[in-house]
Amino acid sequence: MKCNEINELLPDLATGMASATPEVNDHLRSCAACTETLTEFRKTMALLDGADARAFAVFDTRLRARLREDAAKQPAGWWAWRGVRRWQFHWRW
Ligand SMILES: [Zn+2]
Repeated sequence: MKCNEINELLPDLATGMASATPEVNDHLRSCAACTETLTEFRKTMALLDGADARAFAVFDTRLRARLREDAAKQPAGWWAWRGVRRWQFHWRW
């Protein structure tokens, strides 16, 4: 499986709405980026609950995918990403 496929599943995994398949577990074992994303989602889930948490995770996944596309097009995308991280931190609290 590819990272973008895994990323689509992470919100459901983090909220317990889906359970990891062997393919997903294999990927997570070999991919630090996806494992880190899942860990971050789980931390966020601990601060939020239910539908709100899942909505946030889906939003966050799409935002990350979007930023990756932007970053591929222009180097400035990386700096935008740093700004989003800061914003996200404030949003959580
Ligand atoms: Zn991955």
